[in-house]
Amino acid sequence: MMIPFLRLTDTTAPLAAELKESAARVIDSGWFLNGPETKAFEKELAESVDASLPAIACSNGLDALRLTFRALIETGRLRPGDGVLVPANTYIASILPLTEFGLRPVLVEPSEEDLCMDAGDASRRLGDAAAAGTDVRAMLVVHLYGNPCWNERLRQLAEENGLMVIEDNAQAIGAEAPCEGFNDTRKCGNLGHAAAFSFYPTKNIGALGDAGAVVTEDEELAKTIRALANYGSDRRYHNIHQGYNCRMDEIQAAFLRVKLRHLGEECERRRAVAAVYDLEITNPLIGKPRIFGDRRQVWHQYPVLAKDRDRFRRYLEENGVGTDVHYATPPHRQPCYEGILTGEYRQTDHVASSEVSLPIANITEAEAKEISRIINSFK
Ligand SMILES: *Cc1c(COP(=O)(O)O)cnc(C)c1O
Repeated sequence: MMIPFLRLTDTTAPLAAELKESAARVIDSGWFLNGPETKAFEKELAESVDASLPAIACSNGLDALRLTFRALIETGRLRPGDGVLVPANTYIASILPLTEFGLRPVLVEPSEEDLCMDAGDASRRLGDAAAAGTDVRAMLVVHLYGNPCWNERLRQLAEENGLMVIEDNAQAIGAEAPCEGFNDTRKCGNLGHAAAFSFYPTKNIGALGDAGAVVTEDEELAKTIRALANYGSDRRYHNIHQGYNCRMDEIQAAFLRVKLRHLGEECERRRAVAAVYDLEITNPLIGKPRIFGDRRQVWHQYPVLAKDRDRFRRYLEENGVGTDVHYATPPHRQPCYEGILTGEYRQTDHVASSEVSLPIANITEAEAKEISRIINSFK
């Protein structure tokens, strides 16, 4: 048996006929940018998260975040020097757009419960930053591993401190977070002021190349982001900002419309595999992620924590199971942030040194059962 960590051909193969038809439609149309496919996708993506304004399609997830923070500055909602709460346990793409525009990342430790931003630590770090003279005015929540990083305590913290809430929704399209009453949920990607999406090929909804998007219900912000993504122009040859070229290709929009139609199945498949792991893995050496009753997780990754990570991964490899690590080196330990992201982040370091992502994207429930059996024999 050999179960690779990820096999993208297994993701595209069942959709091949629809994808090829979409590619043919774009090729025959002769319209490759800013056309009907992008426009339709922007509407469909917004609808998928119950947003009232069309999304702004763009080049990739990092650019979606860059456009968002640049626009927050352009519109006066944030100022360079402002602090932004952001999880220390995240991919570096969550941090880069902050430091690029002179915003100060205020790193927050993950909670043991869900590995997302811990509300208690966020409150403490906000206090420390304020005491040191930083005006913390926003919170970037990252729904890491497809796990909604949103709860009543974070909402209260944001409200009490007048923080804008921005989502890095690169890993959680289709997820839902608890909101208001106990049985109520809201779609990740429409919880705060703006949300960035990534359609990198390995994400739950992946383009066949790079693509991203921003969702916001703030009209001024949306207009600014749209202008910034198109050289800063509000109309042809009229530039109100020093902007960028961050367009999405029509062909990617056409592919993404196909993928979006199958989002529900993708989420269900991942949930089914996670449920098998949750039931079957009983080895006390392996820490399983929690399945929450009050939120809809979409399992971009199935992250387990293993004390002896290298030996565990080697053991799985020898038994035909591929794994990956997300992420071995957190942003505060990257050379580019030496002397910039300072402070101690023990829980983040703990996750970074013990996390192992099990196969989740294209495996069957029977394979998940077999992987669990192998894991349970690890000593
Ligand atoms: C993938 C990812 C991004 C960046 O998206 P790209 O499309 O690769 O630029 C940002 N944040 C998180 C959490 C991601 O997983």
